[in-house]
Amino acid sequence: MHWKKLTNGYLLIADKGEDVEEAILNFCSEAGVRHGFISGIGAVRDVELGYYDVELKEYKRKFFGGSFEVVSLLGNISLYNNKEFLHAHISLADRGNNLVGGHLFKATVSVTLEVFFIESKEEIIREDKGSLKLIR
Ligand code: ZN
Repeated sequence: MHWKKLTNGYLLIADKGEDVEEAILNFCSEAGVRHGFISGIGAVRDVELGYYDVELKEYKRKFFGGSFEVVSLLGNISLYNNKEFLHAHISLADRGNNLVGGHLFKATVSVTLEVFFIESKEEIIREDKGSLKLIR
């Protein structure tokens, strides 16, 4: 993973074989950013997605093997227990251009992943993994 500061945000590039969440959180640590918003495109493989069942109040997890185009990676970085926490959703296209998507639990970069990060000047505090609370 390498990154560059732009005038209006940051661009980070994760390389083949890197874990998506790990790369993004490593970027936060290196760049010293703690709150913000991400959007990304690229290609990933071996993805675990979640669907939050509101009645059971739990995630249904599903694994997708193989490589996919990242049509859209969207999410935010907030503080949870005073540590940077990534909440991201992802849309993926397979070889036939069929889409799947959901809450991102795990994905490995298969070619590259280009993520644009916009830092929030205000703190974004997460009270639990499911809800955000804005303080200050
Ligand atoms: Zn989610």
